[in-house]
Amino acid sequence: APEGNTASTSGPSRRVLLFPLPYQGHINPMLQLAGLLSARGFAITVFHAVFNAPDPSRHPAYDFVPVPDGMSGGSTDMAVKVNVEHIFTVNSSCEAPFRESLAALLEAPGGRDNVACLVADAQLLTLMDVARQQGVPTLALRTGSAACFRNFTAYPMLCHKGYLPAQESQLDEPVAELPPYRVRDLMAIGRSHQEHELMRKLMSRAVEAVRTSSGFILNTFDALETDDLMATRRDVAVPVFDIGPLHKFSPAASSSLLQQDRGCLEWLDAQAPASVLYISFGSLASMRGAADLAESAWGIANSGQPFLWVLWSDLVSGVTQATLPDGFDAATRDRGMIVSWAPQEEVLEHAAVGGFWTHCGWNSTLESVCAGVPMLCRPCFGDQMGNARYIDHVWRAGIALDGELERGKLEAAIRRLMQSKEGQEMRERAQELRRKAAEAISDAGSSSRLNIDQLVNHILSL
Ligand code: UDP
Repeated sequence: APEGNTASTSGPSRRVLLFPLPYQGHINPMLQLAGLLSARGFAITVFHAVFNAPDPSRHPAYDFVPVPDGMSGGSTDMAVKVNVEHIFTVNSSCEAPFRESLAALLEAPGGRDNVACLVADAQLLTLMDVARQQGVPTLALRTGSAACFRNFTAYPMLCHKGYLPAQESQLDEPVAELPPYRVRDLMAIGRSHQEHELMRKLMSRAVEAVRTSSGFILNTFDALETDDLMATRRDVAVPVFDIGPLHKFSPAASSSLLQQDRGCLEWLDAQAPASVLYISFGSLASMRGAADLAESAWGIANSGQPFLWVLWSDLVSGVTQATLPDGFDAATRDRGMIVSWAPQEEVLEHAAVGGFWTHCGWNSTLESVCAGVPMLCRPCFGDQMGNARYIDHVWRAGIALDGELERGKLEAAIRRLMQSKEGQEMRERAQELRRKAAEAISDAGSSSRLNIDQLVNHILSL
C-alpha cells in the first residue's frame, strides 16, 4: 500500500523510466525497485533489451518497451557466456533504437511533462547519455554491493600501485588501501593486457555513469555495509540511496526468467529444521564443466546431508542433470531433490534450509543474509570473490571453499557448515544479520525506509 510521500497526490502520476541490464541478477533488483516506486504512486515504464526480456504479463501495472538489440531473436538465453564485451554490445546495439523509442515517448501527449527521470543500470552509460541528451535526468542503479563499487572507483589506483593486473605470486597479498580485500578478491578478469583494458574500461564507464547522474541507488543497507557506504558517499559527489534489501519490498519471483519449480517447497516441508543444504550457482554459467560436476556430486553424496540442488541445463559448459555421474541417484535416494530452477527467496526462508552453497552473486548473498542462512562460498568471477570475502571474513557467516574443487574437501566443508559447532556459530551470526536486515526496513525511520523517502522526494524534485 502507498505510504509516506507519494507521487500522485494531484494530477497524473509522474513517470519513472527504467532500463535494466538484461541478466537475471540485474533484472530482479530493477523490477523490485519498480515495485517500490509504483507503491509510492509513480507510473512505470520499463525499457528493456529483447534479449532476456521480462514477461510483461507478470507486471500488468507497468508499460514495457522492447528495444531491439540486434543480438537475438527475442530469446531467453541465460547461458550466454556473459562477458565484458557483451555489456558493451548491449550499450552500443540499443543506443539508436532507444533514442528513437525515448523520443517517441517524450513527444506523445503529456510525455515530457510527466517523465521524472530514467533509472538505468550503472553499466548502461551509453543509454544514460541518450536520455540526458533528450533532457531526461538519470539515476544509476548498481545491483552489487557498496564494497564492490569501491573496487570500481579504486581501480586506477590499484593498477597504479601494481596490484593489477595480478601476478600469481601476489594473490594472497592484502590490499592495504581496500581492506578486507586480498588481491585475489578484486574484480579482475584474466591477466592479458587486452582483458585488463576491457575491465578498466567497464569500471571507469560505470563510475562515470554514477558520477554524472543525479543520484546513485544501491541494493544494500546501512547496517550491513556502514563503512563502505560512508566511503562511497565520499567517493561520488551525488546523493547515494541505499534502499535494500530490495527483495523485501516487492513480491518475490515475478521477474524470474525461468519457470520456478514450486514442488521443492513441499519437499522441504517434509525435512527436519535446518537440515537441508540448498545449492545454486545463480543464473550465469559458473560450473566449470563435467569434472567439477562429478566432484560436486560426490562431495554432496558423501556428506550424507539432505540437499536441494538447482541444476539448470548449462549448455555452455555442458552441464545438465543428465550428466550427473552414474550411481549418484542411488547414493542419494530419498535424501535430495534436484530442480532446474527454484523459488530461491522462499527456499532460503524455509525452516528446513540450514545452509546455502552459493556462487556468491550479490542477490543470492543478500537473500541468504536476510534469511539468516550461513553460506558455503564458491565464487567464480566478477564481484563474487569480493562478496565471498565479506561473508567469510567480515560477517563470518560462511566458509570460503578455495582452490580446486575436490570431493573430499567439499564433503568436509559441508559437514563443517551443517553439523559442527563452528557452523552453528556462523548460523547465529547469519541470524543476527537477518535481524539487522529486518530492522533496516521495519518501519518509518528505519535506515532504508528513510532513504526511500528521500529518493522519492529527490525524484519529485528533478
Ligand atoms: N534464482 C532463482 N532461482 C534459482 C536460482 C537463482 O530465482 O533457482 C534467483 C536468485 O534468487 C537471485 C538471482 O536468481 O535473485 C541470481 O542473482 P545473483 O546476483 O545471485 O547471481 P547471478 O545470477 O547474477 O550470477
